[in-house]
Amino acid sequence: MKILSMLSRNLWRGVTTLRFPARPPVTMRFRGLVRMNPALCIGCAICRFRCTSRAITFSAGKNEFTWSYDPGQCTFCGRCIEGCKEQALTQEAACPPVYLSIGDLKTSYTIPRKPPAPRSPAAVPRAPDSQPTQGVTP
Ligand code: SF4
Ligand code: SF4
Repeated sequence: MKILSMLSRNLWRGVTTLRFPARPPVTMRFRGLVRMNPALCIGCAICRFRCTSRAITFSAGKNEFTWSYDPGQCTFCGRCIEGCKEQALTQEAACPPVYLSIGDLKTSYTIPRKPPAPRSPAAVPRAPDSQPTQGVTP
């Protein structure tokens, strides 16, 4: 008899899941999507190594590198942001958009590598004034 009342309740209570494309409410503890500022990124790839979900991919060329992020694979753990010393990564507390296929939300940046800064004369080590002695004789 109990099963019948359960069935009856389930049949008549209506829809309890969200209807597409409605989005679930964002909870207080949700950290959000990762955003990258290409102007600050130096291409060190630390974020890629810290991301165990493989949401960040990185390919390096001689004069440029490509950084990609797929929110569909992201667990929003924040490890990439903690590891980015350049403050190039942030998380926005917005709900992830609805997507239909893996890779729909993927973003990529191809960034030219910055040339190394010229060395200042003060930083160049000076040659010693005297030659080192080859041996010491008493
Ligand atoms: S850790 Fe930061 S600076 Fe390094 S590749 Fe990632 S986003 Fe760029
Ligand atoms: S938040 Fe976590 S899962 Fe998402 S890209 Fe960063 S390290 Fe990877």
